[in-house]
Amino acid sequence: MMDKERTIPVLYLVVPCYNEEEVIEKSSRVLADKIRRLIQAGRIAAGSKVMFVNDGSKDRTLELLHRAAAQDTIFSVVSLAGNYGHQSAILAGMMMARQYADAVVTIDADLQQDIEALDKFLESYMAGCEVVYGVRNDRHSDGMFKKGSATLYYGLMHLLGSKVITNHADYRLMSKKALDALAEYKETNLFLRGLIPTMGFPSDVVYFDVKAREAGHSKYTLSKMMTLAMDGITSMSTRPLRMISALGFVVFIFSCIMSVISLVDWVQGKNVPGYTTTMIVSLLIGGITLLSLGIIGEYVGKIYMETKHRPRYIIDTVVWKENEHKEDS
Ligand code: UDP
Ligand code: MG
Repeated sequence: MMDKERTIPVLYLVVPCYNEEEVIEKSSRVLADKIRRLIQAGRIAAGSKVMFVNDGSKDRTLELLHRAAAQDTIFSVVSLAGNYGHQSAILAGMMMARQYADAVVTIDADLQQDIEALDKFLESYMAGCEVVYGVRNDRHSDGMFKKGSATLYYGLMHLLGSKVITNHADYRLMSKKALDALAEYKETNLFLRGLIPTMGFPSDVVYFDVKAREAGHSKYTLSKMMTLAMDGITSMSTRPLRMISALGFVVFIFSCIMSVISLVDWVQGKNVPGYTTTMIVSLLIGGITLLSLGIIGEYVGKIYMETKHRPRYIIDTVVWKENEHKEDS
């Protein structure tokens, strides 16, 4: 089953940051402190680091990150050329980190995800898991809308045959082996939560509490969330296309029956005063056709983007230094 005994890993925390100036100083302190405590406890190796990914922030985020990295070599900063979105930002960070690390944990910059869960992530890693999923205990810190839409969304995803893990966002540990496998997936339409479970490595789930954001406000705008939701469905499942075929078949049978009824009426010489029926049928068919075209269009758009083989992110600058010992500071 497990092929080798694990050694204490070099752990990298990959932290995507988009306009997080209010929270950067606090989070960098908390994350570095956690890494140092884990190193001291002998749970992770001395070369472990916090790797920030600046996702094209328009505020002082990058400046603050560079300042932190100048003061403390435990921080590394990868800055992307523009705003590529959360998924691409963590992919960029993971792909950079796998060059140095044995294990990588992705975590949001706002400290909403309980950092103490790292201990359990590491336990599962040491037990031989290649992927460890952080799953939130409950959604009491979310508003009604986010809670409702999340429940609906995970239900729909499962219905469509996706393997997403309910209430797992992108707080997860991946081993070097899993990251190397992930690097083989070249898709532009990236939905890591759906993709990673399909890789099929031994994995584990760790539960954690979600806190309120430390500072600032959510960087996931409604439109960013809708895009992620849509990508999640269309990049993981072609079942909506199958449903269109099924719908088309049902409508076809229905229209056959209607035709027969109309013909019988005509033969019997009945005068059909069918304005309502005609309207309903034509509106219904028109609506179904447009909806189906829209769904097919989504997939055509996806194919179009994939065929371009564009890079998923472009790295502008990287700051990385060997860890200095900072015992006495
Ligand atoms: N983020 C990013 N690029 C974006 C949007 C968000 O890198 O285009 C980062 C953001 O800085 C944070 C994480 O993704 O570290 C999650 O975002 P946020 O906390 O705003 O989302 P929420 O918790 O509200 O879903
Ligand atoms: Mg957040």
